[in-house]
Amino acid sequence: MRVLVTGGAGFIGSHLCERLLAQGAHVICLDNFFTGRRENVEHLLDFQNFELVRHDVTEPIFIDVDQIYNLACPASPIHYQYNPVKTVKSNVMGAINMLVLAKRVGARVLQASTSEVYGDPTVHPQPEGYWGNVNPIGPRSCYDEGKRVAETLFMDYHREDKTDIRIARIFNTYGPRMAEADGRVVSNFIVQALRGQELTIFGEGQQTRSFCYVDDLVEGLLRLMAAEGRHQPVNLGNPVEFTIRQLADEVARTIGREMRLVYQPLPQDDPTQRKPDISRAREWLEWEPAVQLAEGLEKTVAYFRERLRLDRARHTPEPAPRELSAG
Ligand code: NAD
Ligand code: UDP
Repeated sequence: MRVLVTGGAGFIGSHLCERLLAQGAHVICLDNFFTGRRENVEHLLDFQNFELVRHDVTEPIFIDVDQIYNLACPASPIHYQYNPVKTVKSNVMGAINMLVLAKRVGARVLQASTSEVYGDPTVHPQPEGYWGNVNPIGPRSCYDEGKRVAETLFMDYHREDKTDIRIARIFNTYGPRMAEADGRVVSNFIVQALRGQELTIFGEGQQTRSFCYVDDLVEGLLRLMAAEGRHQPVNLGNPVEFTIRQLADEVARTIGREMRLVYQPLPQDDPTQRKPDISRAREWLEWEPAVQLAEGLEKTVAYFRERLRLDRARHTPEPAPRELSAG
């Protein structure tokens, strides 16, 4: 089985590559390294059945593969708003290029979509049948609308050309290898806490999110890809909902210290509540998350502790060689 993972050097992509290799697949990891890092997949480079390709999904590519996981797109608000036009292109042209490839080589293709297609939802929790409440002209629109058009393209290729598609609507996912400075709330809180800084709460911290540990998410992606005939979107996320304020408490508990909080303005169009209805994933994939937030945070804190330690070691100047003492 030859599997292409676009965005494979990113946070979720690197875990997915690892699992695919463990299953015996030949993995082609494609990335333009905008938010991904070579370090995320460095430990995979010695595997004979792992290839790393620098490529941008906005450009066409031909590779003979059996499956495609299309994850290439910056996922954090800071990064996807950095160059919004590029974000739209990565989503739309990336989807077209991967669908064209899938059609040409007869591959099954899975799109990493997002809970952002529901925007600031007026239905709670969000089932796949909900059409969403998205601002088409706001700062988040390049991502939200880009992902919505990608879904449209996937469904159109399926209806028109019988392309064998899968659509995963991924809800907030966290874990080791998140980028340290991409501004997402879990990595932000952990890094701030480990550095002894104040935790930045946007708004009053009463907005909610549901946090899925990356191993659970990857298991869901693999199951969706393997499921026969499931062309409709499937929500993948953890249905346990937390306010952002509660998340700050959980991070403080994991690190074992009281945290000082600082309140900052809520970004425009920040969704007030989010929680997946995962009935479809339960029924179609027999999938549900197994990792509770406390356990996932332990693992993520351990990862960032080590990463910050390595960063410090790298930036600490070598001690001057001791003078040789006479005698
Ligand atoms: P990430 O930023 O760590 O990974 C994205 C990867 O795509 C990076 O390696 C980046 O360099 C690469 N990339 C970006 N634009 C590209 C382009 N034009 N061509 C080639 N490569 C490109 O983010 P992530 O959290 O691992 O997200 C992976 C996918 O899952 C994304 O599509 C994202 O929208 C989706 N998703 C993630 C979450 C989450 O909470 N992590 C939630 C919903 C959806
Ligand atoms: N958030 C916060 N402090 C931070 C970063 C984020 O309070 O330092 C909030 C943000 O406003 C949002 C939630 O946490 O309500 C989740 O933000 P994130 O960027 O992780 O994901 P998304 O908004 O895309 O779900």
